[in-house]
Amino acid sequence: MKPIGPIPPAFAGQQGELTIGGVTVSALAEVAGQTPFYAYDLDLAARQVARFRAAMPNSIDLHYAVKANPHPSVIKHLMTLTDGLDMASGGELARVRDCGADMEHVSFAGPGKRDAEIELALTLGATLNLESEHEAASALMIAERLGVTPRLAVRVNPDFELKGSGMSMGGGAKPFGVDAERVPALVRILLDRGADWRGFHIYSGSQSLDAAAIAECQRASLALAADLANAIGEAPPTVNLGGGFGIPYTANDSALDVEAVGSALDSELGRRDGVLKDTRFMIELGRWLIGEAGVYVARILDRKVSKGEIFLVTDGGMHHHLAASGNFGMVMKRNYPVAIATQMGVEASETATIVGPLCTPLDRLAADMAVPRAEIGDLVAVFASGAYGLSASPTGFLSHPNAVEIVVEDEKVTF
Ligand SMILES: *Cc1c(COP(=O)(O)O)cnc(C)c1O
Repeated sequence: MKPIGPIPPAFAGQQGELTIGGVTVSALAEVAGQTPFYAYDLDLAARQVARFRAAMPNSIDLHYAVKANPHPSVIKHLMTLTDGLDMASGGELARVRDCGADMEHVSFAGPGKRDAEIELALTLGATLNLESEHEAASALMIAERLGVTPRLAVRVNPDFELKGSGMSMGGGAKPFGVDAERVPALVRILLDRGADWRGFHIYSGSQSLDAAAIAECQRASLALAADLANAIGEAPPTVNLGGGFGIPYTANDSALDVEAVGSALDSELGRRDGVLKDTRFMIELGRWLIGEAGVYVARILDRKVSKGEIFLVTDGGMHHHLAASGNFGMVMKRNYPVAIATQMGVEASETATIVGPLCTPLDRLAADMAVPRAEIGDLVAVFASGAYGLSASPTGFLSHPNAVEIVVEDEKVTF
């Protein structure tokens, strides 16, 4: 038997049929019109935002990193609760434009921006987080052609990284950002060319559960921003301190102590270099805001036994949820938080492996998990699925039907 990850507090301890946002999974399946589906509880996302606000210094702005979950209802909901949105592509930018986002608080990072993406950002008035000198030159040229003053920040490749993070994005040679030592010269060019220089973007990693490691990165980011500003001789209007707040996925994980991150940051802000005294700071989060608010639900199609082992075969799998199968940025395959959604709180009586319908051994939602006896027709819930779920999965693989996405807010279900 292999342990499962921790079921998020909103769902742990439920009895009988699982409810999401107060609605039973079978009622949700009815509205969705099918299984598998993803359901996002928007009230839980709002609760995370409130928790962030309570834990962090008041002066810190919160941005939502849309790539974690680009569903329009999720974007619209988080857009009203946060202070800005961070994009990773022109496609995301078009999406938030269609959602009615205020472009003054939208930024766009990511290497290899095409001219058309840069043009879209500049036309809309979003801030480009420049990833290279070439990108800076393109942005200045396109802005001149359009006759606009470009809002430009520089993404810095810092010399440090977020320790213990699932995905490191700083420290050493990286495709992201401009090496710190070349940043002052680049910013001077932006200033000389009359750009609206917005400051620095310093992102050093993702999915960390270690409050001390995040606090250390924020301290180092503040010091780096001050050094760069002093070298340039101009104060940055904004500094994006990155994010990296993780959520628990597997049995070895425990929740991040955000309150500890907040109090450490409060002290660091108090002793920051004078050059940053009027700077606005922001933190950009995806996963931590929406990850635990999402549940992926699939139905058991078959129950079979092979050499004494029980396999529960569902209509969902890695084609909708690559991360739960352990194939998205995970070094070791460990079980996500998974439950038989139609039998919450029922004592386990057997060990089963839950798989999807794909013809590959990679398609596994949970291995050797202790479960109550589940039958064909029972529903399986995969928790912690609100971020990097459907949009981070190979949905075309094997040409099965796609999953449906629904949102629940105030016990009302919509698409
Ligand atoms: C992916 C990404 C994020 C969001 O990361 P989470 O782990 O979802 O919080 C934020 N900023 C940048 C630059 C990213 O690439």
